[in-house]
Amino acid sequence: MTGAGIDGRRGLRRATGPRARSTVAFPCDTHVHTRRCGHAGGMDEELVEAAIARGLGAIALTDHAPFYWLPPEQRDPTLAMSFEDLPRYVEDVLVMAARYRGRIEVLLGVEADYIAGREEALVRLLEVYPFDVVLGSVHFVDGWLVDAPSSLARLDQGQAEVDRVWGRYTELLIAAAGSGLFDVLAHLDLPKKFGHRPSVPFAGRQSEVVAAVAASRCAVELSSAGRRRPVGEDYPAPDVLRELASVGVPFVLSSDAHVPTEVGFGFAELAANARAVGVDEVLVFGRRRGKPVSL
Ligand SMILES: [Zn+2]
Ligand SMILES: [Zn+2]
Repeated sequence: MTGAGIDGRRGLRRATGPRARSTVAFPCDTHVHTRRCGHAGGMDEELVEAAIARGLGAIALTDHAPFYWLPPEQRDPTLAMSFEDLPRYVEDVLVMAARYRGRIEVLLGVEADYIAGREEALVRLLEVYPFDVVLGSVHFVDGWLVDAPSSLARLDQGQAEVDRVWGRYTELLIAAAGSGLFDVLAHLDLPKKFGHRPSVPFAGRQSEVVAAVAASRCAVELSSAGRRRPVGEDYPAPDVLRELASVGVPFVLSSDAHVPTEVGFGFAELAANARAVGVDEVLVFGRRRGKPVSL
C-alpha cells in the first residue's frame, strides 16, 4: 500500500520563506459528515455555507466510508454510507468544490474505520477516488462500537473492563497509525466519550501511542466533538496534545460536525489550546498532502 500522508513532516517546521498570514478565521474544518451516513442532517450546501459563515478557508467533507469489511447484509445504513452511495458522494463533492471555488475550498474526504487484517480491502476502496484527505478511526473494538450508547453496558461493568477496553483500543490505534492507510488520526482518545477513563492513560501505553503517531507521518485532529459529549473534553486530552506537539506531530482542526450548526464548533478554543503548547500552524490537505497554514 502506498504511503499517503504529508510530505516531510519534520521538514515542515523548517519550511523556507515567509508564510502568508491567513486572512480567514480558521484554515479548515477537516471532519464533517453528510446525510449519506444515515445519522447526520442538513444539505451539503448548508454545511458549506456554515463554513463560509464561520470564516473557514476550507471544509473537508469526510463522511463515513462504507463498511468494507462486512458482508452487505451486515452493513448498517444508519452508521455509514453504502457502496452504491460512494461514487455519487464523490461526484457531489467534486461538483460542489467547483461551484464554491473562489469562496471556499471544498475538499473531498472520507472517514474510514481501521479494521485489523482488512487493510487491503480499504486500500482498494480508497485508491478508486481522488480523495484530498482520509481520516482514520478506531470505532470498532473486536466487532463492537466503542463510541455507541450500546457500549455502555460493557463500559459500565467497572474499571477492570474499562481498562481492558482501553488496552485493546490502544493496540488497534497503534496499528492504525502504522498502517500507512491514513492522513489524519481522528478522535485519538475516543473511548473516553462517555466519561470512562483508564486507570493509566492509554492503558499505560501513552508514550508508545505518541511514538507510533510520530513515526506514522499522520496528522492528529484537534477535535471539539468531545466537548459536545458526556466527557466534556476535546480529543485528544491536554497532556496528550502537549506530548504530541513536543515531538512535532502536525495537527488539523476538526468539529466532527453531523449537522450544519456544528461546523467549525469550538475552533477558537481548539486554536488557543494548540497555541498554548507551541503549535502555531495546522495542516490543510489536498490530494492527500498536508500544507501548513498559520493558525
Ligand atoms: Zn458519524
Ligand atoms: Zn468518528
